[in-house]
Amino acid sequence: MSDQKTTDISSIGEFGLIERIKETLGDERSGISKGIGDDAAVIDLGEKGSLIMSTDTLIEGIHFDLSYMPLKHLGYKSVVVSLSDIAAMNAVPQYLTVSIGLSSKFTVEAVEEFYRGVELACKNYEVSVVGGDTTASRSGLFINVTAIGISTKDTLTYRNDAKVKDVICVSGDLGGAYMGMHVLEREKKEFQANPDMQPDIEQFSYLVGRQLKPEARTDLIHSLSEIGIVPSSMIDISDGLASELMHLSTQSEKKFKVYEDKIPLAEETRSTCMDFGIDPTTAAMNGGEDYELLFTLGLEDFEKVKNHPDITAIGYVEEGAGPVLITRSGNNVPIKAQGWNHFPDQS
Ligand code: ADP
Ligand code: MG
Repeated sequence: MSDQKTTDISSIGEFGLIERIKETLGDERSGISKGIGDDAAVIDLGEKGSLIMSTDTLIEGIHFDLSYMPLKHLGYKSVVVSLSDIAAMNAVPQYLTVSIGLSSKFTVEAVEEFYRGVELACKNYEVSVVGGDTTASRSGLFINVTAIGISTKDTLTYRNDAKVKDVICVSGDLGGAYMGMHVLEREKKEFQANPDMQPDIEQFSYLVGRQLKPEARTDLIHSLSEIGIVPSSMIDISDGLASELMHLSTQSEKKFKVYEDKIPLAEETRSTCMDFGIDPTTAAMNGGEDYELLFTLGLEDFEKVKNHPDITAIGYVEEGAGPVLITRSGNNVPIKAQGWNHFPDQS
């Protein structure tokens, strides 16, 4: 037996593990403008601009539950999740590879249904699948989507360039996908207890849609480009607002002050939170999968979008460190959330 020290992944978490991987891989080679650590990698193409590339994996039982996730929606969502990371660089995706691992329970028709969702997303976002890989899986479905875009260098937005006095903005509303998951989980349990029961999700259609059929905000990237705005920093909200604020704040080395009463919530999110006894701020902060954009704008740029119906200012950037929430009662609470933890402490 080796006496080499071993470390449980749960003790350092997902972000700690990525840091360890980065150290193991060592220095990046030339031509890489951004390697590990942002929403997507950026490769310098010289005069042709930059190649933007991001990959995401979805695993049955971890990221989705086929008892309430239709395969066509899953195909659509798998593409959206990857496109969202390209949008988070202020770039527009163009090409995809889609790889699948299939256990024996999947039929040809099931795979076709999944790809009908992929195709619909490709049509809506004007991207093309240029390849992928197909393999067997011991159990369940495994999906990996890589998205690629080409962009001009001066419009790219990273996580580390927020400036003091910048306005912190979010698109759309938050917490909806998380509450949609709660609704679907509750219906699943009730259906298991009583299979004759008809699902009652019509009144939650907005939230269920947010969970089952999210959209990547490439529309906003186009709108910002039309008015000539380049955010100073940006990230997509896949793991919850708290985690993404932490990334921007840490990488920009600035304090991010956010006002609780400014966090945008849909009315259906608020009322469903009441129903479930969940604090709406917690749903927005620690839920995930909204795939909205969190970004910072200089004051002059903010003036140009302040009446945009889909952009909300939630706070501003200050000298200092860490994200802070100013609660409704005026308290300053440091934001600590880690987002989704794929490696929970089992002990
Ligand atoms: P996002 O939530 O935006 O998809 P992640 O948290 O998955 O981003 O990843 C953060 C950064 O770490 C990205 O730059 C990603 O490419 C990198 N990364 C994640 N896992 C690995 C890995 N196994 N090897 C190398 N880089 C990784
Ligand atoms: Mg991201």
